[in-house]
Amino acid sequence: MKIAVIGTGYVGLVTGVALSEIGHTVTCIDVDPRKIEELNQGIPTIYEPGLGDMMLKNQQRNRLRFTDQHRAGLEGAEAVYLAVGTPQRADGSANLQYVEQAALDVAEHIQKSVIVVIKSTVPVGTNQRIKRLMMQHTRPGVSIKIASNPEFLREGSAIHDTFHGDRIIIGTEDYETAHVLEEINAPFGIPVVKTDLFSSEMIKYASNAFLATKISFINEIANLCEKLGADVEEVSKGMGLDHRIGNAFLKAGIGYGGSCFPKDTNALVQLAGNHHHDFNLLKSVIEVNNHQQCLLIEKMVARFGSLHDKRIAVLGLAFKPNTDDLRESPALVMIPKLVELGADVVCYDPIAANQGARWISEPVAYTKNVAESLSGADCAVIITDWPDIKRMNPETYVRLMRTPIVFDGRNCYPIPVARKATIEYYSIGRPDVV
Ligand code: NAD
Repeated sequence: MKIAVIGTGYVGLVTGVALSEIGHTVTCIDVDPRKIEELNQGIPTIYEPGLGDMMLKNQQRNRLRFTDQHRAGLEGAEAVYLAVGTPQRADGSANLQYVEQAALDVAEHIQKSVIVVIKSTVPVGTNQRIKRLMMQHTRPGVSIKIASNPEFLREGSAIHDTFHGDRIIIGTEDYETAHVLEEINAPFGIPVVKTDLFSSEMIKYASNAFLATKISFINEIANLCEKLGADVEEVSKGMGLDHRIGNAFLKAGIGYGGSCFPKDTNALVQLAGNHHHDFNLLKSVIEVNNHQQCLLIEKMVARFGSLHDKRIAVLGLAFKPNTDDLRESPALVMIPKLVELGADVVCYDPIAANQGARWISEPVAYTKNVAESLSGADCAVIITDWPDIKRMNPETYVRLMRTPIVFDGRNCYPIPVARKATIEYYSIGRPDVV
């Protein structure tokens, strides 16, 4: 099928590349000419394992192209995917201005009837509203069918997730549109759930809210473990083996971040409030997470008294490994606080460091490797469990740092290993090693 994808961010680019890989002819459209220029040179604009090779292969096959011109990009398209951002407004609700603008761009330029597929995460009712908006702006005789097809990929494993997802959700108003969407997605071989528009939109928010709840739950258990002398890693292992609970998203740490969980949980609370429903459970999940992101600072202040002039090695900036995305990363909460408390911050991240200047306005230094950031440091704080940080022998801290004191927000090292390395080690929900 001939498909256009609007937006070449994490979701749009991966969607466009994957749809071309399974045989469709795809044109990705973005308003950012810089992105389009790089993509046309075969350079992926995001870091995502496996994306670059697949993208290049399909560009060479002439199944995938990129443009910043809506009219040219939409020509002949039978389905148009909207994959633009839905960031958080100041009041927590989802900002739909990019979805609305993208919808208007499509309505203005399409010459024939199309299916518009909304991949962006949007509040319940938005698909229907976008359809109405588009119908007011299309030329006579051109009609719109709308489909909600929320995205569940995880940054860092987006290509894998797209080809091995647990389910594809398709929300439509009629059977025919659902059938076309099912056909488009058939080569993925992933179970399809066909439903109505409203339920499809809710499935996405409910899924993210549930996963965020699991994380905040285990973090609260971790905080209690610290007070009671239990080890949260043991607790989550024992809990996760129960198939009713499962071990996914049961890892204690310094809280969730990224471009989805924080904004989607806030948006659902807002959406509930708009309908006079007080979503107290989710409000607590958010509150727990906000506190969790400051936990290591509290531990550092308790250990040092003052952080003034302390050289602190920050290991990892991305909100999780295998991505260059810093959106809502705990690093963005912690680093300004550390600088405010007078610390001298030296950051390391194997992939996301070059995004640092865009997100962190405080005066911090960046290093090319872990050793450089640890050299002469008074303490290290682990924010992202990148493989090279996890694999590092903890004795390295002793060798390189002025004082080998490690605050680990991701529980990277087993307690006996930390003990053997003779580091002073503070982690989440486990006994301190002093
Ligand atoms: P993003 O910010 O990375 O990318 C959005 C892109 O859309 C940008 O490149 C922007 O230039 C482009 N754009 C904006 N308006 C446009 C227009 N009118 N025409 C053409 N291009 C336009 O966003 P993202 O992270 O890919 O997220 C997109 C949506 O998918 C959001 O609703 C998000 O909640 C949802 N989602 C994201 C993830 C994720 O892991 N990032 C996972 C699941 C769902």
